[in-house]
Amino acid sequence: MSQAAGKDHAALAEKFNKDEERVNWHDRTLWWIRQKRDKAAWSLGEEWEPLREEASKIKAHTLSNLSEYLTEFEKNAQANGITVHWAADAKEHNQIVNSILTEHKIQQIVKSKSMLTEECHLNEYLKHQGIDVIDTDLGERIVQLADETPSHIVLPCIHWKKEEIGELFHRHLGSPEGVIDPAFLTNTARVHLREKFLTRRIAITGVNFAIAETGEFVVCTNEGNADMGAHLADVHIACMGIEKLIPKRKHLGVFLRLLARSATGQPITTYSSHFKKPKEGKQLHIILVDNGRSTQLGREDFRNSLKCIRCGACFNTCPVYRRSGGHSYHNAIAGPIGSILAPNLDMRQNKDLPFASTLCGSCSNVCPVKINIHEQLYQWRQVLTEEGHQPAAKTVAMRAMATTLSNPGLFKVAGKAGRWAMKLMPFMVSNQFNPWFKEREMPEPPKESFTEWYQKNRKKK
Ligand code: SF4
Repeated sequence: MSQAAGKDHAALAEKFNKDEERVNWHDRTLWWIRQKRDKAAWSLGEEWEPLREEASKIKAHTLSNLSEYLTEFEKNAQANGITVHWAADAKEHNQIVNSILTEHKIQQIVKSKSMLTEECHLNEYLKHQGIDVIDTDLGERIVQLADETPSHIVLPCIHWKKEEIGELFHRHLGSPEGVIDPAFLTNTARVHLREKFLTRRIAITGVNFAIAETGEFVVCTNEGNADMGAHLADVHIACMGIEKLIPKRKHLGVFLRLLARSATGQPITTYSSHFKKPKEGKQLHIILVDNGRSTQLGREDFRNSLKCIRCGACFNTCPVYRRSGGHSYHNAIAGPIGSILAPNLDMRQNKDLPFASTLCGSCSNVCPVKINIHEQLYQWRQVLTEEGHQPAAKTVAMRAMATTLSNPGLFKVAGKAGRWAMKLMPFMVSNQFNPWFKEREMPEPPKESFTEWYQKNRKKK
């Protein structure tokens, strides 16, 4: 289910674009992070590209043998004392979490960042069951207090200004009015969260990598909030998409080196915590979630998208994302990779997303696991058109365009008619029904086509 059923990227981007100052600053900030990523990648010199290649191959191999590696992981995790659950979809995932909470009679929990739980709308579901969930990642806590969803997978509140956060904290956490100092606000959040960490008996975390060979998993954060939650609680529930698996512990170094450099330009995330078994007297659960991943694995042209390690680099470089904001993608995973994953879940609700791209290819250039993102966006456009998910008028117009462009005589006549219409009846195209002209002026029509000009000038020689 998409987050904003029936909503469309262009309309939501238009809403975001109403605040020009915010758009410019959002654009600049993300580009700055993209540049940090470049410097971090170049710092490895010639090692960077082979590292990407290696990561891509490890992921391709894992995806080709996913069922074997999942079985191996389950066996080893169980031997370590971890309780392993399987969820076919978001509903099952949420029910499993709820059944663990019910078993322990728990109604208040802490949760660190997990895009899978966003994808499954876990907070919303648990709220309906009367459970109080506190997101402990600072950015996630900010959007949670604002009753919003994250707009970026690594930087959930990147669309928020510090003045707005100051005002939000004043209202919800009692910080002094007008204080916008980031260090002060961070400390306010720290004090607020500390009490939650100390009192909540169940903690949920995401999973960045799970290792089949050892049955352990790794959670990466910069704030240490996943560790605080998991170590202080009696029960730790880790929620993981089945594509997060890697075969061996020795492969971890490849991904840890790529992840932080691609995400924020750091050499490594501040905390890369390994969880292998529950502490004495405590419980450790892991929920392995499919939710459409097997279907995507079966789509030959799109299975590569399951290599994603959720670094966000494709968001930061994308000229469309930077200027349209994460909420315009109306799904938990926004940006270029989200536009490939979302149609797999629901083609009708997400038919707009593969078109929210210039196909410039910058996303594919930065992707640490070498996903051919822009090619897959182009392929989705074809699938969506073949499956009848495009407006009939657009399909007819595109067919007419193809006929015209492939017929020189027709092309000549259409060119003449177009120039005539531009000159004498510009309102035919430049009107309120044509969104293309909302931000554009009608150009001066040329006197002749290039072919006519060329033929005339060539004769003169
Ligand atoms: S598709 Fe590639 S660049 Fe985008 S988030 Fe995933 S791993 Fe990062």
